Amino acid sequence: MITIETNDELQTMLLSAYEYLNTPISERQKVARPGPGEKWYRDINVNGIGKRCPTCNVKMRKKQFKNDPNAVTREHIVPLNLGGNNKVNGAFPNCVAMCHGCNQARNKVVNMFNKTLNQKMGAVKFLIEQVYCKGVKLVEKYVKAFRRYLGYQKSKKPRMPNPIGHISFSKPPVVEKKTIVDSSQYDLTLYSSVRDLRHSFDQVWKNEDAVHVSQLHPSVRDRWFPVKPGMGRVQYRSKKKVKDWMDLYLSGKIGQLTFLNRFHST
Ligand SMILES: [Zn+2]
Repeated sequence: MITIETNDELQTMLLSAYEYLNTPISERQKVARPGPGEKWYRDINVNGIGKRCPTCNVKMRKKQFKNDPNAVTREHIVPLNLGGNNKVNGAFPNCVAMCHGCNQARNKVVNMFNKTLNQKMGAVKFLIEQVYCKGVKLVEKYVKAFRRYLGYQKSKKPRMPNPIGHISFSKPPVVEKKTIVDSSQYDLTLYSSVRDLRHSFDQVWKNEDAVHVSQLHPSVRDRWFPVKPGMGRVQYRSKKKVKDWMDLYLSGKIGQLTFLNRFHST
């Protein structure tokens, strides 16, 4: 049986966040946010113009107005205060270009799930999976929070500047319990991207005409092989259809949600 494989580099991202968060605050090795003088950091924005947002697939642009949802911004996949770093190179950089809307919506998820280590780890896992584990089923509560806030962000239009100026509110500090928890309590497994999934399918296609439900990892099974009322779970998907959809998705012509939803609509 062929399954989606785990990836060491992604695993490391998640585990270092876990180690960071599981260290008492006073002993944590803080990574500083790059300053405005850092050229490589500015370049992320410059190079991101015209590219697709890795999360929502929108074409990113130079900021056109305050809070422009499609403006290119810099995103730390794992935020620095949750144990992320400033890595920009390699297959899975932690610093990437992302649209302002997604960036804000991801921040919102972090702020909503920040009370316990368990919540924080769940959020970090979501942040990594959303960008780097395309095709893997994300945990619903994070997706919901993300989507709700993204809709709000994407509805933003140019506005006249406020004559009173910027108003800010101070936030009370978050009180955190200092407890050390055994990592075995958490599901710290990550599955790599849909590219690997295509590779798995390629292996299957050598011998068969269709993809069988048992050939897919359970984490994506429910979406791709749904249970139909009165008929039980769909057992096979045609090889040609799966391939067409995957090609469309990988070429950026359809987003992840459309891609997954096609399995429901036939
Ligand atoms: Zn986006």
